[in-house]
Amino acid sequence: MPLTLHVDGDRWRTHLRDTLDAFGPGLVPVAKGNGYGFGLASLARRCDWLGVDTVAVGTYAEAPQLLSRFDGDVLVMEPWRPFLSTVSYDARVVHTVSRVDDLRALGARPGTRVVVEALTSMARHGMDRHELAAAAAAVRTGRLQLQGLALHLPLLGEREPEAERWAAVLAASQLDTSSVWVSHLSAAQVRRLTAERPELTLRPRVGTDLWLGDRGALRVTATVLDRHPVSRGQRVGYRQRAITRAGHVLVVSGGTSQGIGLEAPSGAAGVRRRATALAKGGLDAAGHALSPFRVGGRQRWFVEPPHMQVSLLFVPGAEPAPAVGAEIDVDVRFTTTTFDRVVLS
Ligand SMILES: *Cc1c(COP(=O)(O)O)cnc(C)c1O
Repeated sequence: MPLTLHVDGDRWRTHLRDTLDAFGPGLVPVAKGNGYGFGLASLARRCDWLGVDTVAVGTYAEAPQLLSRFDGDVLVMEPWRPFLSTVSYDARVVHTVSRVDDLRALGARPGTRVVVEALTSMARHGMDRHELAAAAAAVRTGRLQLQGLALHLPLLGEREPEAERWAAVLAASQLDTSSVWVSHLSAAQVRRLTAERPELTLRPRVGTDLWLGDRGALRVTATVLDRHPVSRGQRVGYRQRAITRAGHVLVVSGGTSQGIGLEAPSGAAGVRRRATALAKGGLDAAGHALSPFRVGGRQRWFVEPPHMQVSLLFVPGAEPAPAVGAEIDVDVRFTTTTFDRVVLS
């Protein structure tokens, strides 16, 4: 019985079109991981429909799913390494290269299309600006097809000035390209940077703001699979915990195998955000955890940690508990949830 992602098709497609219009034709949709909840195959077809020329995947392992359903180029964001066994050398693949030695090694395959990744304040992958001269030489010697400079910018912090600094570094470098592939700039920032440096072609890589940017177009529901009246003190579940007051136990679809109850570590910074996180995944005095499932508009407590394919919830007192077969709302993190069904209206 399904955990379902309901998509208001018209509204979602309108948002996708609006996002493309805002960023311009340089937009590179990102389709990686669980496909932001939609699945990679669905996003691949959607990229075709949007008419973009390139899509970005997270890893080489994901690339075949895009190559088989999308006609354009596929940028692989995980940097090429000599030891990776999953690398695809399809002519439509653009490789991200983050070390000078890797550029030299790729010289064994002249004509390979590459973007050179710069080491931003993220400190993830990339070459610092002093290495770009050696990178330019390796590109020339290896007769690689340079498709641009790639920047991965942090979610917080001064992204626009950092992008500007790298644009200046690129202009002063011997890298023979005017394309900059960039993450986490807004459409307004992309427009400003383009106006400042009209010689540049910006290729913003956008995932979350594209696919999940209009939350109102998306609704997640679980199905009530069973409902049991319980009395105070009654022991239930794998752990045989005592129920603290009379009410109902609901058995609903969605458990750990779908990612329910397994929040990715949230980046909660301030006290208030930490407090919210605690309230969302937190424990009460008896050690119960608040679930992401809603009944009657309110988040409900788990009876015990979620099982593989179902969760047990508690609805206290004489409150009307939804009937078997009813659909209830769930708040999920889309990038960590595997839906059983995606229903596009
Ligand atoms: C995931 C990712 C993106 C897109 O991130 P969103 O926050 O989903 O837009 C862009 N660039 C890189 C390198 C990424 O890994």
